[in-house]
Amino acid sequence: MPKQRPADASQLWFWGRREEAGVRPARPTVRPAPDDLRTVVAREFAGFRSLSHLRLVVELFPYRDVKISAAVQDGALCIRLGEAFQAADEATLRAAARIVLHKLTGRRTRPADHAAFNRFSETPAARALLPLHTATPRPRYRTVGRHYSLPRLFDALNRRYFHGALPRPNLGWSPQFVSRLGSYYSETDLILLNARLDDARVPPLLVEYILYHEMLHKKHGYRIVGGRRQYHTRQFRQDERRFDGYEEAQRLCESFARGRRPRSPRRPGA
Ligand SMILES: [Zn+2]
Repeated sequence: MPKQRPADASQLWFWGRREEAGVRPARPTVRPAPDDLRTVVAREFAGFRSLSHLRLVVELFPYRDVKISAAVQDGALCIRLGEAFQAADEATLRAAARIVLHKLTGRRTRPADHAAFNRFSETPAARALLPLHTATPRPRYRTVGRHYSLPRLFDALNRRYFHGALPRPNLGWSPQFVSRLGSYYSETDLILLNARLDDARVPPLLVEYILYHEMLHKKHGYRIVGGRRQYHTRQFRQDERRFDGYEEAQRLCESFARGRRPRSPRRPGA
């Protein structure tokens, strides 16, 4: 993958200078999309009669990934294109616009549109336009919590289930997660776990299982099926069931997600 460059030099200078000074950069800036992009999106928008009462606003937004979003607010439909879309051809941009417009109107999205979007999002031209990642200070996450040490848990799981062969990713406890238990971010090779799990009342089995699940995401990556990314493939699910105490762990996940304190740290087979 090519080194990521910002969309324009002024941004590099701005962010770079702020970072040198040790100051957190300002929130990423949003700006109106150039006319040619706006025109293409407007053409697609015109095909959605149920949205015709809305004013269309098209903006460029420094998303960290190739991304498009749509939201309705105050009588306007705001479509935000990631910076990368400046490198998109018309067909790709129309496909991306259709995806968000179909979703917004509750219609079924088209596999061909997802395929076009995914193809584009992997191109060097698109990646090169992503906002500078390295100049944006990443939040620092604690790896060793009060009760659970993620590196230690990772190493134990790695030995037990991966023959020690899985390279250790970045690890952290996220205080921002609300209902999400864990996540794996392939771009930054980062596994985050919900910091609420770092609690003496949470059974080790649950923490280990969630970490194991995210480790499987690192191991398996994703497949593109029907133009969409598929993460929980059959092989993934098979691997998941190899976890000792899988059923109990599933039950604990559900009760944790419902906001209940998991009881009985009984660990089947241990
Ligand atoms: Zn998952």
